[in-house]
Formats: sequence, structure tokens, C-alpha cells
Amino acid sequence: MAEGKIKDFPRDMVIEMAESAIEKNGGPEKAKVFFKFYCEVCGGRCTFNEPNELFETGICYKCGHETVVNEAGFMVIIEDRNGRRTLTEAEA
Ligand SMILES: [Zn+2]
Repeated sequence: MAEGKIKDFPRDMVIEMAESAIEKNGGPEKAKVFFKFYCEVCGGRCTFNEPNELFETGICYKCGHETVVNEAGFMVIIEDRNGRRTLTEAEA
């Protein structure tokens, strides 16, 4: 694991983690996950725009390269009566 780089997880594992994070944070009504991946060319940290979807490939926002997403991370956005919060996968 490179310094300062968040470790990503294999697809099956990260999907399970995301599902449990949604359940723990109020269910799909309140919590959404956005999956993230590293661009294989420039190393940019990219986030899918579509919530709760881990696509097979993603386009890098920096260089435009299409990366096959074998490993991913995610963030959780929670909106409830306490307001809007963002958690990383490590906090979720
Ligand atoms: Zn890139």
C-alpha cells in the first residue's frame, strides 16, 4: 500500500461492505454509496456519479482513460434529520 493511498477492495468484498454500510446508516432511504477507483494510467481518484452502482469500467475525470474497475472503495452520503454527512468506507 503506497503512502497516502487508500486501499481498495475486490469488487465482491466492496459491494458487501457498501451494503452493510447502507444498512448501518439508516437503510437505502437515508444512505447512498458512491464507489471510487484509481485510474490505472494517471492514478487519479475517481468517483462514479451514479449512487449505489459499481460499474465494470469507469472514465477518469482527469485524463479520460477508461479503467477496468477490479478493485474499488466508496464513500457514504447520509441524509437524515441530523443533516447531511459523508463517511469514508473506513468510517462506515
Ligand atoms: Zn486518469
